[in-house]
Amino acid sequence: MYSSFLIKYGEIGLKGDNRHLFEDALAKRIRVMLSRIDGEFEIVKTRGRIYVHCSGDWKQEETIEVLSRVFGVVGICPVMIFEAGEYDKLQEDMLSYIREEHPDFTGSFKVKARRVDKEFPMTSMEVDAALGEAILDNFPQMRVDVHKPDLLFDVEIRDKIYIYSKVIPGPGGMPVGTAGRAMLLLSGGIDSPVAGYMVAKRGVTIDAVYFHAPPYTSERAKQKVVDLAAILARYTGPIRLHVVNFTDIQLYIYDQCPHAELTIIMRRYMMRIAEHFANAEGDLALVTGESIGQVASQTMYSLVTTNEVAKLPVYRPLIGFDKNEIIDISKKIGTFDTSILPYEDCCTIFVARHPVTKPISEAIVRSEAKLKERIEELVKTAIDTAELILAK
Ligand code: ATP
Ligand code: MG
Repeated sequence: MYSSFLIKYGEIGLKGDNRHLFEDALAKRIRVMLSRIDGEFEIVKTRGRIYVHCSGDWKQEETIEVLSRVFGVVGICPVMIFEAGEYDKLQEDMLSYIREEHPDFTGSFKVKARRVDKEFPMTSMEVDAALGEAILDNFPQMRVDVHKPDLLFDVEIRDKIYIYSKVIPGPGGMPVGTAGRAMLLLSGGIDSPVAGYMVAKRGVTIDAVYFHAPPYTSERAKQKVVDLAAILARYTGPIRLHVVNFTDIQLYIYDQCPHAELTIIMRRYMMRIAEHFANAEGDLALVTGESIGQVASQTMYSLVTTNEVAKLPVYRPLIGFDKNEIIDISKKIGTFDTSILPYEDCCTIFVARHPVTKPISEAIVRSEAKLKERIEELVKTAIDTAELILAK
């Protein structure tokens, strides 16, 4: 029915070259994302607009679904395009648009014309009035409401005539690839995939690292994380996922350190190893799914001690979120059902009954000193044997 979409994007704060970079990046992301589905898509950028023209084997619903996952897209408008001409033709086009699109509509409407082609002999307001009148004459069951119309007919007079009345919301944010890269600590839980989504939404390309502890954690637990990365990749593009075997490090910590400090010390080693891969990937930050007070390892005190070992900034986009709010987002983005699959996590296996909630850095450093004999070698082995999976 429709064979084109007008893509609306946020422009606030985008000026000069930044705006061009943004538009180029957005057009490129749209092209890449649509290349995964059937159909031919032509992406055209003109004067502050991006159009997607669809042909071939394309399906409307599928195309909208893909577009609604492209960060930077604020609205997706199925648009009918008519050849430009005199006013009479414009009026005929408007009426046939309504006959096609809203034949049984009985509510209020408003016409909002925009005359980009200044050659057109009427002003936008004159077009609004004339089209409004023509619509009333032809569809007496409709009425005008210029303040709160049920339907807004957008009419753009450009090289062609573009008419649309529906805006399907997009995710907003910035196109992936406009803001550098970051390393996401991705577990199988609910939080970290959401954290990755939120950072990617700001235009950041995501790499990921997952720590597992075979044979204490299963192949299925690992697969779950690969699956989560693949779901995220539907928004972010392919994710380079580093899978690190953490077993020997965990066992060694378990052996040498007070059990109440296990989680904190493990976290610190996760951060160190994550930072190693982050540096190798050229990432500008680490990202975790932590939120203040959610568990013992996420008190303000614990966050201080885990933070200390990282030189890169650690972004925690969920820091002020309640669990329920995080769950809502994970449902919306499609990670929830996978996150709640009941496979063991490496952190839950060696967890202490009474973990410290107010770790003191000096004490933790003293405990870590007990690891000095073998830890360097174990970390090196963990790094050297890590597996790289491309999740897409
Ligand atoms: P999540 O739901 O993200 O697993 P969580 O509530 O289970 O979070 P923790 O287990 O305390 O919280 O983990 C805090 C953060 O540390 C996670 O959000 C994630 O970023 C990181 N993390 C925890 N375990 C792992 C792991 N096995 N591999 C990679 N990162 C991890
Ligand atoms: Mg977890």
